[in-house]
Amino acid sequence: MEFSYWERRSFLGNAKYCIIGGGIVGLSTALNLAQGLPASEIVIFEKSPFSGGGSTKNAGFACFGSPTEVLSDLQSMSKKECTDLIRLRFEGLKLLRSTLGDHNIDYQHCGGLELFSENEKMEGKDFEEVLESLPMLNTFMEEAIGEKAVYHEVSHLQESHALKGMQGGINNRLEGAIDTGKMMKSLTAKVNDLGIRIVRGMELLSFDEQDGSVDLHFDYGKISCEQLFICTNSMSQVLLPNLDVHPGRNTVLLTSPIPRLKLKGTFHMFEGYVYFRNIGDRLLLGGGRHWAGAEENTLEHGSNPIIEKKLLSLLREDLLPKNDFKIDYQWSGFLGLGNKKSPIIQKVGNHSFCAVRMGGMGVAIGSEIGRQLAQLFFEEHSF
Ligand SMILES: Cc1cc2nc3c(=O)[nH]c(=O)nc-3n(C[C@H](O)[C@H](O)[C@H](O)COP(=O)(O)OP(=O)(O)OC[C@H]3O[C@@H](n4cnc5c(N)ncnc54)[C@H](O)[C@@H]3O)c2cc1C
Repeated sequence: MEFSYWERRSFLGNAKYCIIGGGIVGLSTALNLAQGLPASEIVIFEKSPFSGGGSTKNAGFACFGSPTEVLSDLQSMSKKECTDLIRLRFEGLKLLRSTLGDHNIDYQHCGGLELFSENEKMEGKDFEEVLESLPMLNTFMEEAIGEKAVYHEVSHLQESHALKGMQGGINNRLEGAIDTGKMMKSLTAKVNDLGIRIVRGMELLSFDEQDGSVDLHFDYGKISCEQLFICTNSMSQVLLPNLDVHPGRNTVLLTSPIPRLKLKGTFHMFEGYVYFRNIGDRLLLGGGRHWAGAEENTLEHGSNPIIEKKLLSLLREDLLPKNDFKIDYQWSGFLGLGNKKSPIIQKVGNHSFCAVRMGGMGVAIGSEIGRQLAQLFFEEHSF
């Protein structure tokens, strides 16, 4: 297939700076590039109607570290790597909120509560042991982000949240929730307002570096640009096969409205692998990748029957045992994972850059990663 004269002249003609991927990172990269480049020369190509990976599929947690996730990271990563990651998420959330405004993303400063079930006790994950680590975790957080007493114990979960069968909970007082749809809508509106074009329904199949330009081969035809920015996160293996990034599928369930729902706020369980929150009077529950194996490293939409069964049983038996509800929505999305949790922001050719591997925290870090990718480009070109 070839582009028509009109398509080339009116939609693609002056596409000098091409961004692949219209998720949080691609859109944020565009916003930041437009601070030093003509917006009319920046074009975002997105293969899906909205976002094919995570940006319109996520759970909307504005989170940066549940206690057991941080404890586990401190065991598997250096202290500096952990500090850098926590700081990136914390600063990234601040940037997201200041760029778009709390009202436009429906930011709720509800805190983030990690719950410890009695079942976990049987698996050897003891709440008391995590509690003993709280002073150390609070010192670590204070060093990382300059905030005192980030975590505190929460008891009486039955009275406050109608939760039974829990050993206890630990709250991160600085976490919150956003409305994912509103966030992506207002990010897109900001990009459109600047005059940056978003062309949807075009998939980049491959690219070739030329002298002073890059040829982009789409399913729809070929164009050339001066600079290429690849922001495809979980879907990067085709374009960037040598990078350590692969997909991790996540399933999300959303209940019907539940009268007098007491479970309000954002919650984590099982080192953050399982998460739930209220959306008005509905409950959203997702995750559970740790209950399956490598078969979840897939880009196929759908759900794993084992994960789905466990999520449903958690909902019906532990979280909402006395409530009558059905599942009104169910969907899947993809995280960009690798051996390391840190994102990859680098040059991948003379005129090509990438920012991928958001590690399941792209709401938190996506705005900052877009800023850093644009900064890398500006530094390279001595702006
Ligand atoms: C179910 C789920 C729940 C999550 N919950 C949270 C949360 O609560 N908090 C949090 O911080 N993070 C969460 N995340 C992670 C977060 O959503 C992602 O890290 C973030 O959206 C990544 O943004 P991105 O722009 O890098 O990638 P994406 O949003 O995946 O965007 C990449 C885009 O590139 C497009 N693309 C790919 N290949 C091509 C190609 N060849 N040509 C053209 N377009 C292409 C895709 O269609 C896609 O739209 C969750 C993710 C999922 C899946």
